Amino acid sequence: MTSKHLFFDMDDTLIKCSGYFYDVEDIVAEKLLEYTDKYSFDEIKVMFNAKQVENIEEYGYGPDNFKFSLMQVGSEIAGYRFFSDNLSAFIDETAKVLYDAPLELIDGVEDTIEYLHNKGYEMHIITKGSTKVQTDRVERLPIREYFKSYYIVKHKLKSDYEEILKNCNLDPNNCFMIGNSPKGDINEAKRAGLNTIYIPNEHTWSPEDEEISEDLPKTFKLDNISEMKNVL
Ligand SMILES: [Mg+2]
Repeated sequence: MTSKHLFFDMDDTLIKCSGYFYDVEDIVAEKLLEYTDKYSFDEIKVMFNAKQVENIEEYGYGPDNFKFSLMQVGSEIAGYRFFSDNLSAFIDETAKVLYDAPLELIDGVEDTIEYLHNKGYEMHIITKGSTKVQTDRVERLPIREYFKSYYIVKHKLKSDYEEILKNCNLDPNNCFMIGNSPKGDINEAKRAGLNTIYIPNEHTWSPEDEEISEDLPKTFKLDNISEMKNVL
């Protein structure tokens, strides 16, 4: 096996993540229902989602964008009562969990990472989001010691992969990108020439979803991370 460098996505590939976002979203949507006859629970969630996509350019991925988008939709729906009822404090409080939630590894991650490390693979993390938030989370990972380096990027585009590989002086043929997002983790990495391993997660955020490109190089689709032991 010549591919000795493994790049891992972090959120929903190594640790449980989006589940917390959905919980917060549900609590805030439920609360906002008290302020509207016009929108249903599901419609409010669609509004949250659209607002987050709209805010990505300015606020990036992660809890800051998420919280800010909830606030914007909240004030649209509740009008002046957003301020009189101090809904921003309610959202702030509800969203706290996103910043200090314990990092919970996905089943099989610890064993698999240790196994791959023992087999001599060099492992790295590529994650997107705020530098401060993601640095803190990577450093708190109970499996941090197995990763040689990590990269926090604004988006995960072909050019981001190319830049990282160039800085590491690596040939994409010798690298794998492993992740749960068809768009950022798989298709963009493939366009940069990396081999890819797609491990779907039930919580993958809808804007990250798309068809896996049929173009070479190859993509392995696995049911869970433990199956990497059979592939590598
Ligand atoms: Mg992910």
